[in-house]
Parts: sequence; C-alpha cells; structure tokens
Amino acid sequence: MSDCLFCKIIAGEIPSKLVYQDDVCVAFNDISPQAPTHVLIVPREHFDSLDKAEKHQKETLGHLLLTAADIARDKNFAADGYRVVINTNRDGGQTVYHLHVHLLAGRPFIFPPG
Ligand code: AMP
Ligand code: ZN
Repeated sequence: MSDCLFCKIIAGEIPSKLVYQDDVCVAFNDISPQAPTHVLIVPREHFDSLDKAEKHQKETLGHLLLTAADIARDKNFAADGYRVVINTNRDGGQTVYHLHVHLLAGRPFIFPPG
C-alpha cells in the first residue's frame, strides 16, 4: 500500500531502528516509546487491522506472537515479563492501519489498561 506508513518502513523508504526481520515480519522500535522497551512487530503483508484478518493469515498472526516471545527471550526480559498489545480500530486506540503487535517491557503494567 503506497500511502501506508508501515509499508514504507518495511520498504526502507522511512527510517526505523530495526530489531529483527525475517521473510514474514519486521520488528522495529516505536518512535514514541511507552516503556523502556517498545517494539512494533509488523507483518510484511499489509492488512489493515485484526478486524480485517482472514483465516489464511492464521500462520502470519501466530508468527507475530512467536516473534514477540523470541525477542523477549533474546533481550532477556521474558522472565520479568512483558505485555503484548494489538490495538484494533477506533475504540481500541489504533492509529496506524497496518496491523502490528506492540511488545512492551521494562516496567510493570497495570490491568485493565486505560
Ligand atoms: P497504534 O496506535 O496501535 O496504531 O500504534 C501505532 C504506533 O506507531 C504508535 O505507538 C506510534 O508511536 C508508532 N509510530 C508512528 N510512527 C512511527 C514511526 N515512523 N516509526 C516507528 N513507530 C511509529
Ligand atoms: Zn501497510
């Protein structure tokens, strides 16, 4: 999608601080971190939101979660804990309409979130 911010980051047209990449996803630091670690894990394939996900994207969705767990272990905060968030549509607080997983760590998180 030519006008999508995250597609442009994936294509290297907009700079980002890369954390991890493979043939399915790209992970980079959030530009406005809400915790000491705040990584966005983004599928290379554009789909607008979890609300738009389809059955054939099951593997991609699973891959995003397993990638979050891998990054948490690699960065040594898995045992302390972390939070994984997928904001979806307006009331979910989604602002960029290319599905992404937030991986947050380095401080305690309250629940329910605001
Ligand atoms: P959401 O509100 O769930 O759609 O999350 C979008 C996230 O993208 C926010 O946490 C933003 O801080 C982040 N963001 C926006 N622009 C950039 C950018 N150029 N590079 C990295 N993260 C960004
Ligand atoms: Zn996109």
